[in-house]
Amino acid sequence: CRKEPISIVVLGASGDLAKKKTFPALFSLFYHDLLPDDFQIVGYARRDMSDDEFRELILGSLTCRVLDGRKCSEKMDQFLPRCRYHKGSYASEEDMASLDKLTADFEEQRGVSNRLFYLAVPPSVFEDACHSIHRAARGAKGWTRVIVEKPFGRDLASYVHLQASLSSSFSEEEVYRIDHYLGKELVQNLMTLRFANSIFEPLWNHHHIESVQISFKEPFGVEGRAGYFNDFGIVRDIMQNHLLQALALLAMETPVSLSGEDIRNEKVKVLRQVKPLTIDDFVLGQYKAANGKPGYFDDDGVPKNSTTPTFASCVFHIPNRRWEGVPFLMRAGKALDERKAEIVIQFKPAPGDIFNVPESMKSNCLVIRVQPDEAIYMKIISKAPGLTSRLEQARLNLFYREAWEESKDIPDAYERLILDAIQGEKSLFIRDDELRVAWQIFDTALKQMEGDRAPKPAAYNYGSAGPIEAERQAFKLGLQWIHD
Ligand code: NAP
Repeated sequence: CRKEPISIVVLGASGDLAKKKTFPALFSLFYHDLLPDDFQIVGYARRDMSDDEFRELILGSLTCRVLDGRKCSEKMDQFLPRCRYHKGSYASEEDMASLDKLTADFEEQRGVSNRLFYLAVPPSVFEDACHSIHRAARGAKGWTRVIVEKPFGRDLASYVHLQASLSSSFSEEEVYRIDHYLGKELVQNLMTLRFANSIFEPLWNHHHIESVQISFKEPFGVEGRAGYFNDFGIVRDIMQNHLLQALALLAMETPVSLSGEDIRNEKVKVLRQVKPLTIDDFVLGQYKAANGKPGYFDDDGVPKNSTTPTFASCVFHIPNRRWEGVPFLMRAGKALDERKAEIVIQFKPAPGDIFNVPESMKSNCLVIRVQPDEAIYMKIISKAPGLTSRLEQARLNLFYREAWEESKDIPDAYERLILDAIQGEKSLFIRDDELRVAWQIFDTALKQMEGDRAPKPAAYNYGSAGPIEAERQAFKLGLQWIHD
């Protein structure tokens, strides 16, 4: 694959995502010698920009994971000349045809035209861009692939519409739908942890697991992105995609193999067994001003009557042979007390307790901390050392930072995903049927959260752990959120 030349076209090259993620990831792949030897990168957007201005724009966002100043600047000097800019409108077949010509000039001498289009454009532009690429800029002697970013619609109906339009231009095989959570190191490790070790799988079911908790907490509010956020809300932004993907990997059966199709078959299977949610499964919250920080409504882009949740917690049930009776708790929120993404598998207390273990430390937990400071650890009950029989909760730790030298240099999720798209590896991308079932799970609840009858979310303080109602929701199930 490294021998085959490739053209990587970034649509929306002037935008936030391209600058923040796409170009830094491409440079990092180049820095680590992971891009094909022969490649060109073409930035495409509507505004005027010379090649030099475009290279300046890219340079402003490039960083090196490993600080080796000399190598880094040498690599940047080699990378930038391979980047060119093409001005064009996303809907224009004519502009796309001139991009095709520019790209073909590079490809002609090489006899191969593999093209990867990265669509870093707003959803409103998405359909037009796909059509014009299809009509005017497909690779003539090689493959064409498109990477698309969320949001993939805003409910089941709009997703189905979007997909119908996408599939009129590209086959499923050509489409790479990014959920960058799947590129995160710890999320990738979930399958290894479950299926390469013999100790977890026998316990991985309703006989031994009391609950599963999946949390995503951000310590900041909308900070200027209120327009986008208010339209989507935390459920669409985080839960329906990133956290549901984690749930699928935790709950699915063993795939037949590690191939993309086999893994995604298992994910779809378990997602189809998830009971669709209604509003009654949710607690919704909106942050208010506290601790010197602004509330959601202090942001200019938020309408005064907005009921968009900035926090949500919900409970999933998967009434199948493995998970019947095990609640999967999920929560996500902005303006909370910390930055953390974490999965906690809470095991049932040991039967026949001869130690009188205090209630507070009764169950063992397996904690998978996705961010920050990646870690996997097990909370166990242990005798404190010395002439005492005191019990304490202790940890069996796998702190990535301490265990692996390489963990200082964990690649950004986008690096893994772009590399996989170049190599045609699809296991970390979302398939059409997966997305459909993901929307089916949330569709009813989302409709009930919106419109005239939308419930008012509970207010919580900026910088707090979220609304107290989320604690009550867990309490009603005989559980509590594990706070570390
Ligand atoms: P953006 O900065 O708002 O837009 C990207 C580029 O698209 C802009 O530089 C602009 O380029 C063009 N554009 C903007 N609005 C347009 C319009 N109404 N019509 C035609 N062209 C327009 O978007 P982004 O934040 O980079 O996000 C790109 C995509 O990735 C979106 O689907 C977004 O939801 C998704 N995403 C973004 C992030 C992120 O961190 N930013 C994270 C996850 C997913 P020109 O005017 O120069 O053509």
